[in-house]
Amino acid sequence: MEPIIYDTSDGQQLRINMISSWLKRHYEELGLTSPAKIVKLSLDGGFTCPNRDGSKGTGGCLFCSESGSGDMASKTAAEQIALLSGKWPADKYDLKYIAYFQNHTNTYAPADELRVKFEAALKTADVVGLAVATRPDCISEEVLDLLTELNAKTFLWVELGLQTIHDETARAMNLCHDLADYDDAVRRLTGRGIRVVTHLILGLPGETREMMLASVRHACRQRIFGLKLHMLNVVRGSGLEHAMPDYVPFDSMEEYIDLLISALEIIPPEITLHRISGDAPRSTLIAPAWSYKKRTILNSIHKEMRLRNTWQGRLCT
Ligand code: SF4
Repeated sequence: MEPIIYDTSDGQQLRINMISSWLKRHYEELGLTSPAKIVKLSLDGGFTCPNRDGSKGTGGCLFCSESGSGDMASKTAAEQIALLSGKWPADKYDLKYIAYFQNHTNTYAPADELRVKFEAALKTADVVGLAVATRPDCISEEVLDLLTELNAKTFLWVELGLQTIHDETARAMNLCHDLADYDDAVRRLTGRGIRVVTHLILGLPGETREMMLASVRHACRQRIFGLKLHMLNVVRGSGLEHAMPDYVPFDSMEEYIDLLISALEIIPPEITLHRISGDAPRSTLIAPAWSYKKRTILNSIHKEMRLRNTWQGRLCT
């Protein structure tokens, strides 16, 4: 069988359908522009979370950092563009942006308030799309109507934090939502033609390799646009730091990479990968100690896939 190579630009031989390459092709095919780079802007919309304010739970999911999983986010798109200008200078690249509302639960507010924040981000120069991270149990009918309207006007995806399909793990991690909530949210969003990106965490306490792969399989059975996979990071200030201070999600980077490649092999080629490694800042990271070495992990994954001559979707039937 011939391997699928998803991106050969810039001399790459990527065997994974990464969202960065997908977006670049997407905008070129639409003829909107010829961008050199589509950059995600991490935004903090000032929302809270029903798993912190008492309406669903208190204390949050055990792995959640105090910032609500968005340690590098800015208040506005313009602020984040300025912050990133060193990394992606506008005079060297043709830059376009996706405004990514990342921190806490970004649909946990009245639809009018969401509209103001989402539309302000979309009005920023060179912002060509919107991504909204949220909980599966937090999409009211009025929010669904707003998302449907925005989806008709701009490029949109909604990221749902599933983390695991196993309700016993979900309870142990204090997620305060379950698989039925997720399945319902996917059905309602995809029913309106809205792209869904599913977030899964690998290495949650008590989960075997087979349980993690079962979560991946379940997510891929539905018509989702993308998957975000990464290892559990135990970070300072999280519930896990206090509840399980000695827990280490993987014995080694190699063990994580082996599991991740097994997951990629069962993910259909059309599903985009939005993350395959963690990005907890080194200053807050407790375990796994190697998890902050993102570039090393990514390079090792691509190298190992070439060595094994495997690719995303190889074992899909
Ligand atoms: S991970 Fe998401 S749902 Fe869980 S407490 Fe943090 S912001 Fe809330």
